[in-house]
Amino acid sequence: MVYDIVILGGGPAGLTAAIYGKRAGFNTLLIDESPESGGQILTTYEVDNYPGLPKIGGMDMGKKFREHADNFGAEFAVGRVSSIEKEGDIFKLVTRKVTYEAKSVIIATGAGHRKLGVPGEAEFGGMGVSYCATCDGAFFKDKVTAVMGGGDVALEDAIFLSRMCKKVYLIHRRDEFRGAKVLQDQVKSIENIECVMDSVITEIKGDKAVNAVLIHNKKTEEDKEIPVDGVFIAVGIQPNTDKIKNLPDMDEAGYIIAGETCETSIPGIFAAGDVRTKQLRQVITSAADGANAVTSIGRYLA
Ligand code: NAP
Repeated sequence: MVYDIVILGGGPAGLTAAIYGKRAGFNTLLIDESPESGGQILTTYEVDNYPGLPKIGGMDMGKKFREHADNFGAEFAVGRVSSIEKEGDIFKLVTRKVTYEAKSVIIATGAGHRKLGVPGEAEFGGMGVSYCATCDGAFFKDKVTAVMGGGDVALEDAIFLSRMCKKVYLIHRRDEFRGAKVLQDQVKSIENIECVMDSVITEIKGDKAVNAVLIHNKKTEEDKEIPVDGVFIAVGIQPNTDKIKNLPDMDEAGYIIAGETCETSIPGIFAAGDVRTKQLRQVITSAADGANAVTSIGRYLA
């Protein structure tokens, strides 16, 4: 069977594309590596800037998006697409067990956590080093933790952890945060968050589990060790484009080059959400991409 649209990725972009695809009468399949829909929002404690759904939990938001797509009868499959091959006008999407066929493809594989790349990071993964405060924060009740990063995620993580940890060090490499002003104000008002500016973690130390971070102050050139029980790394994201062969043109960071129409360098392949080159990567812009990609597909298939 040849689908009109096959979507790779079940985050807000992919799920919105599934909703729009089915509403427009297209035979639509969404393939995701995980049976649980939502993508990155599944590891977000709270989303507070999506209109109409104030302070919604990430998990709940993922469920709502999925239910909406289910209600329209979108098809879902679990699998990892390793290659996209074009034969005539048909795309073949190769997974380990099945090769799916489609007239058009939406790549909505999103982005994942960027690594810090310091000694101890890999060694203590799951033993005190985490990339998800909402997933692992509860393990650090009444303990001391460090968050590395200065974006929205780092600020949100520090706020979240401050509710259960004895103390949270928020370590950032510059003297001002990148994250939203509203989050910065909140961080400053919380007593058990200590901001450590102009500094980077150079090593994560431990025995069986993490027990300290070594930090380097870039202004004073001073090095110091801070005893901590856990380290949460929130230094941004990188696109999930490294595991699929034959993708359209990408920029130097690995994002698929596409504008608002989501058209890529390969006619028939569209890129939506965090995986494409864009100014703002949030749920609302990902959802907008899902809608735009299907609108472009309407024109392409006609
Ligand atoms: P981000 O905005 O790219 O911030 C990454 C932070 O990590 C920056 O402060 C950056 O420092 C720092 N950093 C990068 N590489 C580093 C390194 N090697 N060593 C030390 N520090 C490093 O990423 P994010 O916070 O993960 O957010 C990702 C996207 O999701 C953003 O677009 C964000 O707005 C969005 N988001 C939105 C919400 C919301 O709206 N509620 C919530 C979460 C995330 P510099 O500042 O010096 O570059």
